[in-house]
Amino acid sequence: MAISHNLGFPRIGAQRELKFALEEYWRGAIDAAQLQTSAAELRKRHWLLQREHGIELIPVGDFSLYDHVLDMTVLLGATPERFGTEGTSALERYFAMARGTATQPALEMTKWFDTNYHYLVPEFSATTDFAPDTQALLAQVHEATALGLRAKPVLVGPITYLWLGKAKQGDFDRLSLLPNLLNAYRKLLADLATSGVEWVQLDEPALALDLPVQWLDALSDAYAELATGSPLRLLLATYFGDVSAHARRLKRLPVAGLHLDLCRAPTQLGAFLHDYPSDKVLSLGVIDGRNVWRSDLRAVLEQIEPAQRAVGERLWIAPSCSLLHVPVDLAQESTLDAELKQWLAFATQKLAEVNTLTAGVNEGLEHIAATLTDATEARKARAASRRVHEPEVERRVLAIETASIGRAPFAQRQLLQRSRFKLPSFPTTTIGSFPQTAQIRGARAAYKRGELAESAYLAAMQAQIRDVIARQEALGLDVLVHGEAERNDMVEYFGEQLAGYAFTSHGWVQSYGSRCAKPPIIYGDVHRPRPMTVEWTRYAQSLTAKPVKGMLTGPVTMLQWSFVRDDLPREQIALQLALAIQDEVVDLENAGVAMIQIDEPAFREGLPLKRAEWQRYLTWAVKAFRVASACRHDDTQIHTHMCYSEFNDILPSIAAMDADVITIETSRSDMELLSGFGEFHYPNEIGPGVYDIHSPRVPDWRDMERLLIKACEVIDADRLWVNPDCGLKTRGWPETEDALRNMVAAARSVRMRMKAAA
Ligand code: GLN
Ligand code: ZN
Repeated sequence: MAISHNLGFPRIGAQRELKFALEEYWRGAIDAAQLQTSAAELRKRHWLLQREHGIELIPVGDFSLYDHVLDMTVLLGATPERFGTEGTSALERYFAMARGTATQPALEMTKWFDTNYHYLVPEFSATTDFAPDTQALLAQVHEATALGLRAKPVLVGPITYLWLGKAKQGDFDRLSLLPNLLNAYRKLLADLATSGVEWVQLDEPALALDLPVQWLDALSDAYAELATGSPLRLLLATYFGDVSAHARRLKRLPVAGLHLDLCRAPTQLGAFLHDYPSDKVLSLGVIDGRNVWRSDLRAVLEQIEPAQRAVGERLWIAPSCSLLHVPVDLAQESTLDAELKQWLAFATQKLAEVNTLTAGVNEGLEHIAATLTDATEARKARAASRRVHEPEVERRVLAIETASIGRAPFAQRQLLQRSRFKLPSFPTTTIGSFPQTAQIRGARAAYKRGELAESAYLAAMQAQIRDVIARQEALGLDVLVHGEAERNDMVEYFGEQLAGYAFTSHGWVQSYGSRCAKPPIIYGDVHRPRPMTVEWTRYAQSLTAKPVKGMLTGPVTMLQWSFVRDDLPREQIALQLALAIQDEVVDLENAGVAMIQIDEPAFREGLPLKRAEWQRYLTWAVKAFRVASACRHDDTQIHTHMCYSEFNDILPSIAAMDADVITIETSRSDMELLSGFGEFHYPNEIGPGVYDIHSPRVPDWRDMERLLIKACEVIDADRLWVNPDCGLKTRGWPETEDALRNMVAAARSVRMRMKAAA
């Protein structure tokens, strides 16, 4: 019989119970025992829910109080030495690593592959030791087995764990740690074997990256070593991409099963079915763990069929990856209408889909006929819905031609813009948002709830705009912004005004620790029924003689931070978004707004996991930006902003975006990030961030002056702008004003020096 299993379930809770318990614990409102009780309740609820939905092998160890990679670090006994004396309990030490303390910065945090989930990066040194402590994991296994469940512990596999870690001191080969790490895994597996479990899932998503061959060989050796002599059956789980290049190698491993992500990489199945070893289970990830769409179950059954013929009884059915990346339960959605809900599946619904498929495979399609028909009908209804298809949008996308999106050459635009704006050298500006005070958030929330009349809301926001314009003028900034008080979130704000977007009431997905996001859902052709920002910007511009930048979110970032429809290529959706933004750009121009910033902080995040696929992505991403920024006049100045990423390996694409000005985050690397732009001879104007907005610390003007002088060493002085690293919405006013006053002083001082030197 085929069996159904799951790779992991969201931890946060349908009502974000984990978030609230964590925050209460951090505030001191509950103690450690109470936190652990809440965690145990959530685990139990999620396990029982999975069983209720027919999942036979249930993941254990996928739950985490903060992050599963950090849990591995603790489980393996690899806590970096610098945390050795932090906290008085294991739990305090755990949160010290996650969140930092007064004396120790937290572990570095970065994105889990191409998801929006962030993990805590393991820190290695040449002498890193592993001293596994399996007690907590075994306790969870016992919790599950006491409920009569068939538990399958889930661990990050040794190669992925090592790959994701960073060598902190000195340059050494992380692979040199592998022998000791494998000893730790062996101990782990030996302890698990005593707990009565049969299967252990070892996650190796790193296989979807371009792993160097030494690492692949290390993987072969590692699994040979782990599998031999262990009474446990190991399921090696791959996901997030195609691993068919490693099919021969993986099939030869002495593990008891392999899991493949057939949602991301459906075509890889063939490479595995050919000669699939008769001693191995084959787990097919056929329900998309990365998206929210209900599956076309009939099509999935067709996909499964050849595997069923090839491996028969040894077939397992599962979501493509852990369900961590989707919201918990569609049933609690109150804002989505019935039609849309018919098209969607969140984690709970996905379990039911897995169960249906397994039943179909085992008992025959006639047993699931009604459910199949339902799924097919829903899919058909979605495909035919007038809400999904907007012929005019589809026509406009088809009509986009490279020729029509080219502006005059930059040098020509620069001249026109210089004579229009007459800015001083080293012009000063900000990235868009100003402090979001309790008053602002209160007004927005009250308006949303319908408790504040439109006119009163408008008046409140206009008062905010007057306030930020006055403050910026008093500070002496050269290019002003309206402050973004009306925006809760840079994607949500635009999504809510665009056709084709839907918003959930509880669609929370963990971003890191207790932080969750509610990504909007793009379900149909995107277009802009009416102007979105024009009135705010026009109002701001009416208050000052200085230029005010219009503020928009770019097409790639809109796409990257949303759940995206699965019936169109991402590239097409990006172009639809781009046209919607272009409409706004043109309306802003017509309203007299002469500078327009199109933020693309997620531009780099969109890069595919495999380098061979980068260029394709970059080509359409650049095109989308160019379409979005295709304004009518060459003396309109287009800005863009990117932050918190490496730029060096995508500089040609950043240049091809051809924004007149780009502002980037650079202060934390002491301008190091800028040198790439210098070496590349980046042609357009650039504003390297001169201070880090994450800290309430007010930067000294001399520090910023020093950074600017450093910047002049790599970029021509007459192409440099002066601005903070990113938006200021999380800051308070006093430190913001002090910091900007110093920033303006730094710019003035550099101007004087330059004049004196000339
Ligand atoms: N304009 C946005 C702001 O200032 C940019 C935010 C971002 O880069 N993430 O808030
Ligand atoms: Zn930013």
